[in-house]
Amino acid sequence: MSNQELDSLRSQLDDINLKLLQLMSDRAVVVQQIGQVKKKQGIDRFDPVREREMLNQLVAKNNGPFDDNTIRHLFKQIFKASLELQEDDNNKELLVSRKRHPEDTIVMVGDVAVGKSPMMIAGPCSVETEEQVNTVAKNLVEQGVKLIRGGAFKPRTSPYDFQGLGIEGLKILRRVADNYGLKVVSEIINPADIEMAIQYVDVIQIGARNMQNFDLLKAAGDVKTPVLLKRGLAATIEEFLFAAEYIVSRGNNQVMLVERGIRTYEKWTRNTLDILAVPILKQESHLPVLVDISHSAGRKDIAIPIAKAALAAGADGIMVEVHPDPAVALSDANQQLNLMEFEALMNALNIK
Ligand code: PEP
Ligand code: MN
Repeated sequence: MSNQELDSLRSQLDDINLKLLQLMSDRAVVVQQIGQVKKKQGIDRFDPVREREMLNQLVAKNNGPFDDNTIRHLFKQIFKASLELQEDDNNKELLVSRKRHPEDTIVMVGDVAVGKSPMMIAGPCSVETEEQVNTVAKNLVEQGVKLIRGGAFKPRTSPYDFQGLGIEGLKILRRVADNYGLKVVSEIINPADIEMAIQYVDVIQIGARNMQNFDLLKAAGDVKTPVLLKRGLAATIEEFLFAAEYIVSRGNNQVMLVERGIRTYEKWTRNTLDILAVPILKQESHLPVLVDISHSAGRKDIAIPIAKAALAAGADGIMVEVHPDPAVALSDANQQLNLMEFEALMNALNIK
């Protein structure tokens, strides 16, 4: 074969490649249009029956030189790529996704940045007395911590357990925090309380039991106050992100995600800390991700290693419960650190 002949065949091949590329791109556009029609009609994107029909049609027309299996294999790859294209388009639509917003979101709690360098949120499970909150706050400030947590509205499993001090609890938190220059994080459980709560709190916490309380998510999305959203007891990562989307889609993009363990069959911890969720959430979303080492473990003897694991996995911060005298705490007595244990945790982590 002369060089000239080879060149001409190669140039034919280049032409065919370009035509194939054009045809595949045209096909992809049609697939996207089909995806949109299906979405409107609420039909599943993947239709195995239709795929089987298309493959049968192609094989029936196949006159070689490729054998039928090779044709099936080649077209299956094209079908698969098109389906993935539709999925990408879908994910792109989520405001919380990194595809939509590649840069990290830094949540500003007043002048405190969450999402820049690892930070700590600490404080009692429940606000019990002003003296209790004051003792913890003083210790936090000594450790360089800037955000204090404390529950005033407690979503308790039993209706007979301590339900929290309500608005009075928020007022205590505000007074003490102002005295020490701290920011307040506190859980709100009723959408109707959001407007009232933002007069007292710097961060609205939405707890695990309310992760899919859609009215609460919407109400938190309608204000400008930062929101700390916890993963539900049995929520998938995808459901967690959709819950965050409820808030961000209403106009409040100041959302932090907190992995706090999910329910499994394990009995030696209160929940199972899904450490894998941390890098996945960081990868899929631009929102800051924190790890609650108290409600995940339900015990305090492993606080230091799990906090280290969380930071190693890429968490933007740690949340932990601290009480001056955990043994007599009105809630979560087993998992709250005393002041000395908290100091040891802070020394082990070297964060503020
Ligand atoms: C809390 O942080 O006070 C709390 C109740 O945690 P969770 O919603 O994660 O159970
Ligand atoms: Mn608690």
